Amino acid sequence: MTALKAAILRQIRAQGPMSVAEYMTQCLLHPRHGYYATRDPLGAAGDFTTAPEISQMFGELIGLALAQAWLDQGAPAPVTLAELGPGRGTLMADALRATAHVPGFQDALSLHLVEASAPLRAAQEATLGDVAPVWHDSVTTLPDQPLLLIANEFFDALPVRQFQRVGDGWAERMIGAEAEALVMGLSPPAPLADLAHRLGDTEEGHIVETRPAAAPIMAAIAQRIAAHGGTALIVDYGDWRSLGDTFQALQAHEYADPLAEPGAADLTAHVDFEALALAATPLRATPLVPQGVLLERLGVATRAEALARGLEGDARARHLAAYRRLTHGDEMGHLFKAMALSPPQAPAPPGFDV
Ligand code: SAH
Repeated sequence: MTALKAAILRQIRAQGPMSVAEYMTQCLLHPRHGYYATRDPLGAAGDFTTAPEISQMFGELIGLALAQAWLDQGAPAPVTLAELGPGRGTLMADALRATAHVPGFQDALSLHLVEASAPLRAAQEATLGDVAPVWHDSVTTLPDQPLLLIANEFFDALPVRQFQRVGDGWAERMIGAEAEALVMGLSPPAPLADLAHRLGDTEEGHIVETRPAAAPIMAAIAQRIAAHGGTALIVDYGDWRSLGDTFQALQAHEYADPLAEPGAADLTAHVDFEALALAATPLRATPLVPQGVLLERLGVATRAEALARGLEGDARARHLAAYRRLTHGDEMGHLFKAMALSPPQAPAPPGFDV
């Protein structure tokens, strides 16, 4: 049994069952045994991979979209370029390379990275050290100035609570202990003001997820963009509204039981984009755009062709497979969605403006 599982079992025996959110927090962020505290989880040797790790085209096109949004808003300087959960820094490195010739852009920006993981901060330092990034534990310390922000697969890692509809109330799914095993149970149902708006579109037994840490993050982002301009691009798996149990574990690129080995698997849940948009008032949220559609609108086909011309054999086949993986509806193209949040008077960033 892992040390973290023993600690969680002890806590449950002493204090009773814990929410899914508390379990996720301990598994992901426990200072000694937490998943993100102890490893770089990305890539072939890790547990999952992400769009920027699949192809350089992802970060390039996101970078160019942010730079165009900056130009469309009058090229304010200075401007913060920020990323939430930058992983290995790959997306940002590709974005900076692609925007090197946008006049004035790189002189105007300072780079800010919000990152909880020490191993990943070290990886980001190796990739982005030349640009002298400033690391933050939280968005609340980002500079009070125009903000261009990207968050790819960040919100899915923030803990969720799960509620099951019982009559007009909600029973919270709670993690308890049976002998040496962690098991899912239900708290007694109670009315819940936060989910009043979900009584209309759910039925008995339906599960809805909430993400308590997301709203304060969106509020801090919105406050800066509303006051000074900028835009926030959010890309993740999920949908406009959360419905159903999407709490999942990935280990060595396979789905695993999220309760089996606390701290050893990546735990995530789908993102409820409506909740992010609502927490970002007064910003205007674009409709959700599937990742494949966004990348096609930003010109991925042309970029893929240009890169393919310089490649042969296996490298060319790998590149074409990566293009398909990012864009095709059967792969990441449809499951992943993007949303942009901008001041109400500003044009939507490219790719979102149709
Ligand atoms: N955006 C990267 C990495 C996605 S993995 C990519 O697309 O490749 C999730 C990232 O969010 C990791 O960098 C992880 O360390 C970070 N993260 C997870 N929870 C966090 C939290 N509560 N605060 C800050 N960073 C967090």
